[in-house]
Amino acid sequence: MSPEIFKENWELVVGLEVHAELATTTKLFCGCLNQFGNEPNTNVCPVCLGLPGSLPVVNEKAVYFAMQLGRALNCTVNRSVFARKNYFYPDMPKDFQISQYDLPTNSDGRLDLPNGITIGIERAHIEEDTGKTTHIGTSGRISGADYSLVDYNRAGVPLIEIVTKPEIHTIDQAKAYVSELRAILLTLGVSDAKMEEGSIRVDANVSIRDIGETNLRTRCEIKNVNSLKSLGRAIDYEANRHIGLYENGESPKQETRHWDENAGRTRSGRSKEDAEDYRYFPEPDLVPLNPSKETITKIDQELPELPAERRKELLDLSGAKPSDIALLVERNHDSFATETITSGGSPNQVIKHLVNNLPDGLGQLTPQTLAQLAQMEEEAKITNTQAKKILEELVEQGGNPSNIAAESGFEAIDTSEVENLVDELITSHSDEWERFCAGEKKVQGFFVGQIMKATSGQADGKLINQILNERSAKK
Ligand SMILES: [Zn+2]
Repeated sequence: MSPEIFKENWELVVGLEVHAELATTTKLFCGCLNQFGNEPNTNVCPVCLGLPGSLPVVNEKAVYFAMQLGRALNCTVNRSVFARKNYFYPDMPKDFQISQYDLPTNSDGRLDLPNGITIGIERAHIEEDTGKTTHIGTSGRISGADYSLVDYNRAGVPLIEIVTKPEIHTIDQAKAYVSELRAILLTLGVSDAKMEEGSIRVDANVSIRDIGETNLRTRCEIKNVNSLKSLGRAIDYEANRHIGLYENGESPKQETRHWDENAGRTRSGRSKEDAEDYRYFPEPDLVPLNPSKETITKIDQELPELPAERRKELLDLSGAKPSDIALLVERNHDSFATETITSGGSPNQVIKHLVNNLPDGLGQLTPQTLAQLAQMEEEAKITNTQAKKILEELVEQGGNPSNIAAESGFEAIDTSEVENLVDELITSHSDEWERFCAGEKKVQGFFVGQIMKATSGQADGKLINQILNERSAKK
């Protein structure tokens, strides 16, 4: 595949690290509730407060969720070992975080984007979340704060950190990756995946290189990105900053940077630690996770149908545009579409209505009524405009499309009747007709308008145009 050009001769290289909170009832190593929005420091105990003498016990459900996600991402599920990641910060009362290091639960997977591009997954490991600090003062940061508040409700909440290979080369791919990952998390039910509540958090490793260059240059890790829009803006800003430095004969230094949404720029944070700075070592209070072959087989059997398979199914059935299909799967309307089409609705009409006319939900509509409506439209018993009106009624109150059509006076106008009207109009407006035949586009509207007027808008616009074209071809 030819490389994507980010700007002039530069190629963008992005790797994403997504932290997703697992939707367990309790925390990763204790029985405290895993719940967002409670009074600060109410879901805490000696284990998640790191009090001396307390011991962690791993949450089986969290491990199951992590392995399920691993399999959904085509990873190998390995024998894995928890490790202590040592560093000091007030939101982490133990002074270390229990994570995984050289032996993660999942490795070597991939995620297929709706447009066919595959992004490699390096690993997806289990770790505990930290507490939440709020720095009071004008800076909003720990330096310069008057004082800081800390809430340990989040400390010990189970996380899965999914790390891609540096294989993302456009901003759209980065966004598509996060949306697809979200869709998978939601389908599995392993995370509520709410970006706005911080259930998923994205860090982006950004670097830039010459087109055709194969080595990786210095990257910066951008934190604090909490929407897809910010992700795009942050990557764009950072990539351009790197290009600016290289073009000036300088180069970026490896560091963590924070995205400032209001200023629309990244700011330097701490210089990036290397793994050795964390003095990782195996967690002595926990045994390795070593799933049997049977466990993995069971997980595979229990995997629900994933978004990519759902898209493929609807594509095979309808032949619709991939972007329309992706949208319907995202809205969870794909099985409705499948059922409507198998009930006899023409794929074109069904997909068109679901994509364009039903973004706010289906209400009282059923696959059978939509199929019937699509048939009536396909057989030109009603016009597009009439179909839309009937659809509105079906969504609001349900009912039978043919009855609604009859009640609304949407009687089909016979093709021969429209033909007669067109012929009369051609005779009475010969000047306009000459101009139409000479290819003057705007007269077409005149003819369609006149017929619509004569039939109180009940004629089918497509049919009128078809007759006009036939007549002019014969001339
Ligand atoms: Zn606890």
